[in-house]
Amino acid sequence: MALLPIRHYPDPVLKQKALPVETVTEELRTLARDMAETMYAAPGVGLAAPQVGVSKRLIVLDCAGSGEPPQLITAFNPQIVASEGESYEEEGCLSVPGYYSAIHRRAQVTVRFQDMEGRSVEMTAAGLLAIAFQHEIDHLDGVLFVDHLSPLKKGFFRKKYQKILEQMKEQL
Ligand code: ZN
Repeated sequence: MALLPIRHYPDPVLKQKALPVETVTEELRTLARDMAETMYAAPGVGLAAPQVGVSKRLIVLDCAGSGEPPQLITAFNPQIVASEGESYEEEGCLSVPGYYSAIHRRAQVTVRFQDMEGRSVEMTAAGLLAIAFQHEIDHLDGVLFVDHLSPLKKGFFRKKYQKILEQMKEQL
């Protein structure tokens, strides 16, 4: 297993629409395991393949609370097939370090995907897991959580993020 470098906005791979996975190969299973290790090390609750520079439709998530056993979900070609309710919770992103904002999402989603064995799975999620599914699936379409901000908040984000990037460069 290996830790993968996480791409930061404005890396162009984050704005690309990722390609579907036709077959879950051993190579892709290794990528999924490396992504999970990278997510746990960060630490984060979700990671999409474009965030490690691979433009393919694959995400990993683990929204278990602290003290709970891990609940790793590896999802190839995830698709939201139903959703309901509204939520407005603070989000952050490993590809947008140092910035957090509340985002409007659906409160519950039903997601269809293929698992590590290529089997078709359907799962209904609520709470943090529902938000994480929407956030990570957005990544596969080249959408970042800050793309959901109002134009005014997006202006604030751009100014603040510029400073965050400059500080990160100084620390290198
Ligand atoms: Zn993200």
